Amino acid sequence: TIKPLTDLTIAQQAEMLPIKQIAEKLGLKEDDLDLYGKYKAKLSFDLLDDVKTRTDGKLVLVTAINPTPAGEGKSTVTVGLGQALNRLDKQAIVCLREPSLGPTMGLKGGAAGGGFSQVLPMEDINLHFTGDMHAITAAHNTISAMLDNHLHQGNDLGIDVRNIVWKRVLDLNDRALRNVTIGLGGPVHGVPREDGFDITVASEIMAILCLADSLSDLEARIKRIVVAYDRDNEPVTAEQLGAAGAATLLLKEAFKPNLVQTLEQTPALVHGGPFANIAHGCNSLIATKTALKLGEYVVTEAGFGADLGAEKFCHIKSRIGELSPDAVVLVATVRALKMHGGVAKDALHVEHVEAVKRGLQLLAKHVETMAKLGLPVVVALNRFNSDTEEELAAVLDWCRSQQIRVALSEVWAHGGQGGEALAEAVIAAVESNEAALTPLYELTASIEDKITTIAREVYGASDVTFTAKARKQMAHIQANGWADLPICMAKTPFSLSDDPTKVGYQAGFTVTVRELKPSVGAGFLVALTGNVLTMPGLPKQPAALNMGIDATGNAIGLF
Ligand code: ADP
Repeated sequence: TIKPLTDLTIAQQAEMLPIKQIAEKLGLKEDDLDLYGKYKAKLSFDLLDDVKTRTDGKLVLVTAINPTPAGEGKSTVTVGLGQALNRLDKQAIVCLREPSLGPTMGLKGGAAGGGFSQVLPMEDINLHFTGDMHAITAAHNTISAMLDNHLHQGNDLGIDVRNIVWKRVLDLNDRALRNVTIGLGGPVHGVPREDGFDITVASEIMAILCLADSLSDLEARIKRIVVAYDRDNEPVTAEQLGAAGAATLLLKEAFKPNLVQTLEQTPALVHGGPFANIAHGCNSLIATKTALKLGEYVVTEAGFGADLGAEKFCHIKSRIGELSPDAVVLVATVRALKMHGGVAKDALHVEHVEAVKRGLQLLAKHVETMAKLGLPVVVALNRFNSDTEEELAAVLDWCRSQQIRVALSEVWAHGGQGGEALAEAVIAAVESNEAALTPLYELTASIEDKITTIAREVYGASDVTFTAKARKQMAHIQANGWADLPICMAKTPFSLSDDPTKVGYQAGFTVTVRELKPSVGAGFLVALTGNVLTMPGLPKQPAALNMGIDATGNAIGLF
């Protein structure tokens, strides 16, 4: 067998157009751009303002079934579908999250698509890009520094040092920083206390940047961030620390969407990238909204599977941004279906048609959920080289027998051309005008009801139990007047349940909510089920081991 080209090789061999020419495709002029070199640009605030009165294009949300740990190809399909729509003469724009250095250095697998469906320049996008991550890190840590300075200068706000909820952040997987002691060394070096680091993409600032619809909204949300509680257990905010202005100022460039291109020169906005567990896992609202003004079709993705990403896209991002997807693409793979059909992870490359068929129950559950949300769905069967014809047919035939729109996606191997059938199915779904987003819960419902509705309707659970700690936190959230915020579920992506080892779909399980955390600035209540690490560690063989540069400065070993 021929060894397939690596993503990096494909990306490095690609011909990129100067970003000004990509902008021209969208009817933009040089004045509308802040150039970051030849191939990257940010969209100017004037442009963001000027396009506001235009009518919106069509919004296509790409989501997936519960993935294997390797990922099922949402980003790849998102990019490939954008390319395919352009081949069918629809002016399409792709909207993606920007990668964090954590997974880049940690696991093998970028976040810029794959194969012949990638966004470029892939090295930059996966590394420092336009500096947004650094700006978010700086804005977050400015609030931390001002908080510790406040303690040092006399603590006028009466902050309880044992009840500080604002940690520090860094955009790397560095487990040694999860728990640290700061302020050691005597009185001039601050107030000693326990602290810790989260990865930058887990920062509430990242979630805020991705949900704010203007600079003033950005600042208003930062002001509302609860950083600590005082000795009477009353919240202390970033505004009370006087830190919101400086943090917003540090974000003013980072708030502008980044324009890049795909391998087939389809315009792409790659902007913002919050965690998909303790945050909502979507690229910035400002990028999606602007793309809708500039393109006929906007293809965007939401992190993890449909039980997390699509649910949050509908209940959090769409609510805040008044968005309404016109169609959903549900990415499925033979290997993930086999996993949900009971095949062990190390045997997923071996043909097993019966296991694929058993896994279809899980696909059916996600299709049903999208219907409950009022969204027409197209299943994109992302083809891998190890898939057999019989396995693929099992999925395609089943979908057709259930009158579910389905198409084989070969965008990884063939780029946009391999996605034309999918694009046609998506256009048909959009043009059917079936979409009418129907949230599954009202914001005014009780916290318990909101969570129970998600667990029952989306996961297929029969019940939810709340630990004593979660109940206490629920009461505290209510007492502070935050109960009407939407819910952000933090749950394993690998199972519909809260148990990552439970594959497939069997109704009738119980979900346990362990903890509730308000993200008042971002505007949601995080409900934690399993254990969520907000500062990942590096694996035994981190991807960073393979990386380097050649004599002319080209990246080596970046996927
Ligand atoms: P997700 O967005 O769902 O996490 P990605 O699109 O990032 O998934 O894909 C995960 C990894 O799998 C990437 O390294 C990508 O190149 C690879 N990949 C995606 N689709 C295919 C495919 N059809 N064949 C082989 N590799 C693929």
